This record gives sequence, structure tokens and C-alpha cells, in this order.
Amino acid sequence: MLEKLIKAEKLEVVSHLAASISHEVRNPLTTCKGFLQLSYEQEKSPEVKQYLGTAIQELDRASDIINDYLTFAKPAPEKVEKVSVFQEVHNVVNVLTPLANMQDVQIFTNLDESNQNYISGDRKKLEQSLINIVKNGIESMPKGGKLIINSVVDYPVVRIKIRDEGKGMTQQQINRLGEPYFTMKNNGTGLGMMVSFSLIKGMDGHISVDSEVGKWTSFTIEFPMAY
Ligand code: ADP
Ligand code: MG
Repeated sequence: MLEKLIKAEKLEVVSHLAASISHEVRNPLTTCKGFLQLSYEQEKSPEVKQYLGTAIQELDRASDIINDYLTFAKPAPEKVEKVSVFQEVHNVVNVLTPLANMQDVQIFTNLDESNQNYISGDRKKLEQSLINIVKNGIESMPKGGKLIINSVVDYPVVRIKIRDEGKGMTQQQINRLGEPYFTMKNNGTGLGMMVSFSLIKGMDGHISVDSEVGKWTSFTIEFPMAY
């Protein structure tokens, strides 16, 4: 219990920090990119042009991190609306299909199309939380494989399952999931799961994970149905 409390406190500090960082850093990044883009267009020397191109790419990576991982921290007012799980999962699949294709990963969906497959929350936050999980699933299969997303309505909850055929996790790794900066990747941020966990919790959801090392991982997320 004590351990849980401390973890929750740390999370709060981190998301506070994240909110101010993403807010403060976004503007200067945009300014830099604008000027670099201008210089790039006017530059004659191919060598300098290449440097500028690299600088622009790196700035894009920085803003990717902010956008991918910290959008939830935007000081925008939170929206609570009726959100279609069917629609949002499709959006997520569209966003991540290019990444999946690059890695020979096929995404399959099996989604309840009834008008009960709705939850209440913020559309963008649901998308972000699923994107971070699905992205990890794709990244866990560097040699390709299948990623299956299904959602069923099981009164009074909507249950979403995301299953990959990737490298899996040990119990120790599972225990550390959601801990800020925990990553097993060379260029990982270790923020994705923390963000997903806190977004899901914020929408009264519950997430659990099951995995077999070297074989598969499956995330199960449950939200209360919207009425
Ligand atoms: P990052 O992806 O930047 O490493 P995350 O917070 O998204 O950070 O994930 C943390 C770690 O959890 C990953 O580095 C990985 O080791 C592990 N992980 C998360 N999802 C999966 C998955 N589907 N399969 C295997 N490992 C996973
Ligand atoms: Mg990740």
C-alpha cells in the first residue's frame, strides 16, 4: 500500500513536469523549425543543405516525442464525451499502419460495431493511450508478425484487447511497466506506458497485462460503458 502511494505521488510529479515541459518547449521548437526551413529553401550549397535537413529531422523527432507522449499534458480543458471505441481503434490503426508496414507487421481488428461500444472520456486521450500500447506491440516484433485488436461489450464494461506475437516480457519487466523512464530499448523514452496508464486511469479504466517471454504479450483494457 505504501509502495503504491509513493508510486502515485511520483507519477503526479512527473505529469506536472511533463505538462510544463511540453508547453514551454513546443514554441521554441516551432520557431527554430521555421527558420531552418527558410534557410534550407534558400541554401545553395548541397553540403550545408544536408546539415540543415538533418537539423530539421532532429527537431521533428523532438516534437514527435512531445506530440506522441505528452499531448495528454496539454493544458487544454478536458473534454468528456461519448466516444466510439470502434471509430477510435480505426483511427489508431490508420495512424500506425505505416510503422507496421515498415516492420512486416499485420494489424487485424475485430470490433463490436453495436451502438453499445462507447465509453465516456476524451477521444484524443483514448487514442493516445492506445497508440502507445499498439506502437510497443509493433516494436516488439522486429521480424514481423500479427497484432490483433479486438473489442467487445460485456455489460457493464467495454473490453479492448491488444495482442502481439512479439518478444514478450518477464514478470520483473511487467512489474516495472508504467514506471517513468523504464525502457528496454536503445532509443526508447520509457514514457509511453506511463502515459497510457495514467490516461486510462483518468477515464476510470483498468489495464492488465499478460505475457510469455519470446512468444506474445496481451494487454486488456476495460472501461465502463457509456450510456
Ligand atoms: P519505450 O517504448 O520508449 O521503451 P514504454 O513506456 O512505451 O517505453 O515501454 C516500456 C518498456 O516496456 C519497453 O521498453 C518494453 O521493454 C516493454 N514493453 C511494453 N510493451 C511491450 C510489448 N508489447 N512487448 C514487449 N515488451 C513491451
Ligand atoms: Mg513505447
